[in-house]
Amino acid sequence: MEKLDIKSMTMPEIEDALKGYDLPKFRIKQIYSWLRKGVESFDEMSNLPKSLRQTLCNIFDIRGVKIKKRLESRVDDTVKYLYELYDGECIESVLMKYNHGYTVCISSQVGCRMGCSFCASGIDGLFRNLSASEMLAQVEMAGKDNGVRISNVVMMGMGEPLDNFENTVRFLDLVSDEEGLNIGLRHISVSTSGVVPKIYELMELGYPITLSISLHAPTNEIRNSIMKVNRAYPVEQLLKACSDYTKKTSRRISFEYALIDGVNDTDECAEILAKNLRGMLCHLNLIPANPVKENSFTRPNDNKVHRFCELMKSKGINTTVRRTLGADIDASCGQLRRSHQNNA
Ligand code: SAH
Ligand code: SF4
Repeated sequence: MEKLDIKSMTMPEIEDALKGYDLPKFRIKQIYSWLRKGVESFDEMSNLPKSLRQTLCNIFDIRGVKIKKRLESRVDDTVKYLYELYDGECIESVLMKYNHGYTVCISSQVGCRMGCSFCASGIDGLFRNLSASEMLAQVEMAGKDNGVRISNVVMMGMGEPLDNFENTVRFLDLVSDEEGLNIGLRHISVSTSGVVPKIYELMELGYPITLSISLHAPTNEIRNSIMKVNRAYPVEQLLKACSDYTKKTSRRISFEYALIDGVNDTDECAEILAKNLRGMLCHLNLIPANPVKENSFTRPNDNKVHRFCELMKSKGINTTVRRTLGADIDASCGQLRRSHQNNA
């Protein structure tokens, strides 16, 4: 029988799984508390009797991540990781240093089934969802390996978090647990390509996270051509969901817009985009597209990026161009895993 993934479980769930063993409540608390401290084996739970540790070992496993590759930028403090999971699959994470602290960008799935044409993560489709523990372990490992406290998390690595909704919500609960990493929900961003029904589900939970929307195009015609998800949830539905979200949560939405040369960077695009976003509680993040070996998209030159940004600002949209971190190691997300697979 497959062992239970204990690090993804809540305290009542652990208690339930152990109910045949007649353990006092304080033992369950001790176990839970060790897990939140980020232990990687039951042997580290030093205040438990050896026999109990053995019992736990028979029923559960502690799913973590193993560092397979670590790339450190020479131009800034960015570190990119390729992690191996318990079943041999690999995922990517990035640790970034900002003035306000350390941010980890984590993956939510192995691969992705959304198939956006500019993105390396989706090229081979979805392999599997990550468990909450595997998401959490990426944050813990980045902190441990660098001896730093992580203050922010962004779910912008491989995968679509809202296509792995239940585990994503579980992860949000665990990472913000006061007994554990205690990273406040306000310091966490969840990025989605626009799975509208799940945006509403997230809204109903009322978590004060930051929602990032990968918009990347102002019209259905352009968005359909680069993002399959738009055929299911077109621009007008997505923007309506975003507007509802900001009204309900009073949280500002962050729109991501990867500028792709000749595709979505024209003055006309800026014009329509500004109209779409006018009046919404939002911020626009322009990202010059990262070239991906498997497609022919390129980023506009700096002048064009600047022009697009100024146009948006002139129309009253709060806009920034995302600072490139770790440019020398910037295989964009999904590429490191692919190159590893192809060389393996
Ligand atoms: N699946 C989620 C989160 C992961 S992708 C989403 O799509 O939002 C994280 C961000 O990187 C998204 O905004 C995505 O559109 C963007 N991205 C993917 N490939 C890129 C590329 N080649 N250049 C620039 N941004 C890219
Ligand atoms: Fe998946 Fe996001 Fe990449 Fe689209 S951009 S393929 S949703 S990871």
